[in-house]
Amino acid sequence: MTEGVTYRSEYVVVGSGPGGATVARGLAQVGRDVLLLERGKDLRKSWYYGTYLGALLYSDRMSFLYSAEGLNIIRPLMVGGATSMYCACAAPPPAWLKDSYGIDIDEEVVDTIKELAIAPLAPELRGRASTRLAEAAQALGYDWQPQDKFMQPQRAHPFRCRSTCMLGCRCGAKWNAAEYVDEAVQAGAGLRTGAGVERILVEDGQITGVQGTMGGMPFAVRADHVILAAGGIGSPRLLQASGFSAAGEGMTMDTTVMIYGFVNDQGIGNEPPMTWSFEHGEAGFMLSSLIDPWLNYPLIMSQKGLKYPLTWHRWNHIVGVMIKLKDEISGGVYADGRISKPMTTRDRERLALATAVSNRILVEAGAEPSNLFSTPLRGTHPSGTVRIGALLDKNLESETKGLYVCDASVFPEALGRPTVLTIIGLGKRLVRHLLTEDQVT
Ligand SMILES: Cc1cc2nc3c(=O)[nH]c(=O)nc-3n(C[C@H](O)[C@H](O)[C@H](O)COP(=O)(O)OP(=O)(O)OC[C@H]3O[C@@H](n4cnc5c(N)ncnc54)[C@H](O)[C@@H]3O)c2cc1C
Repeated sequence: MTEGVTYRSEYVVVGSGPGGATVARGLAQVGRDVLLLERGKDLRKSWYYGTYLGALLYSDRMSFLYSAEGLNIIRPLMVGGATSMYCACAAPPPAWLKDSYGIDIDEEVVDTIKELAIAPLAPELRGRASTRLAEAAQALGYDWQPQDKFMQPQRAHPFRCRSTCMLGCRCGAKWNAAEYVDEAVQAGAGLRTGAGVERILVEDGQITGVQGTMGGMPFAVRADHVILAAGGIGSPRLLQASGFSAAGEGMTMDTTVMIYGFVNDQGIGNEPPMTWSFEHGEAGFMLSSLIDPWLNYPLIMSQKGLKYPLTWHRWNHIVGVMIKLKDEISGGVYADGRISKPMTTRDRERLALATAVSNRILVEAGAEPSNLFSTPLRGTHPSGTVRIGALLDKNLESETKGLYVCDASVFPEALGRPTVLTIIGLGKRLVRHLLTEDQVT
């Protein structure tokens, strides 16, 4: 491949999700020369951002991306990465990250909570039916708590968050990593959108830059440091294309399934998603209030069989519990484009237990016991494909000098909880490390 136009930068960051945006912003704000490359576009101002059509257009394979086993993977590709479609839930990093892997991001997390005003929604915004669900769980002894959010309802015009929040935020309440991208650019970082990186350039064991295509034309960036933040699927693919064959072996997903039940009164579809959550650390699952948006519901349920989409007219009367499993490392992202994520025996046991608990809660909340059902399995947290300890050291550096990875792919195990706060913490820590390293050399 010819290089085409060649740029030069001290640091090049690939991908503008929470990992890449945090690193680009942090480096630019202290005057470093940074170029941020993103394969998607900035669609926040487009008329279709946050609509059903938009969600199809900016998700990989129009949301029809499946693992070999049939797990539906949602992978947004645009400025801000998956925070363009996330539910804005925030959770601190799991204790094992520090205790078992020696990675302490407590300071960075506290700083982020303060900076982005992370907190649960006010009681009157959590939704009546969602709150009733949480109260039912509490009555059974499950300690559901108001979920911390990357949301500031006072920014909204007006606040009208409901299950469609997952298509993209149209009311302005939800924080998106694209805001860190804006701040990086204001601080002097270069940003190229529509810039798909295809290869990493290495000479004599030292990183020298990246190569890719922008607007159909080849380009290259020569850089002293490359930070891959292309996400749990993008980063291993880039590494594989550059000869790092061990990347992408094994994957975590926090595999997700919704359990639904019908109630006589209002369901939770017109309420913000995930306003209440419960983490069962020991059993390895998390539960939250959530149902799929109105138009997604029949499409998703048709994968289960004809009788399910026929319940569409009762969408307004559904209460739903979302199960997020801390799944084991399995399958992987392969060089031929395939993705595999089989459920292990332990995953299945965890899912069976989580389903039994969810069923009890739904019935306690008033759902008809004979009418409980689950959605097909889904994956919204592709991660653990370039793991710390396997391919990266504690400072997120690979064995190629100057090549770092900072995104969900670095997780050494499944988080089993919302990822973004941990990724931002890792990004801020990496910035600190890069600046310290620079002073030493
Ligand atoms: C529907 C949904 C709901 C979610 N809800 C929550 C939630 O409530 N809370 C939470 O914490 N997490 C949530 N998540 C998960 C969270 O959003 C992701 O785990 C997180 O955004 C991952 O961050 P990242 O930096 O690893 O990569 P991503 O956010 O995936 O960003 C990677 C970026 O890299 C770009 N890219 C990929 N390949 C290339 C390439 N070759 N060249 C250039 N650019 C490239 C992509 O276009 C993308 O913009 C949700 C995810 C989804 C899909």
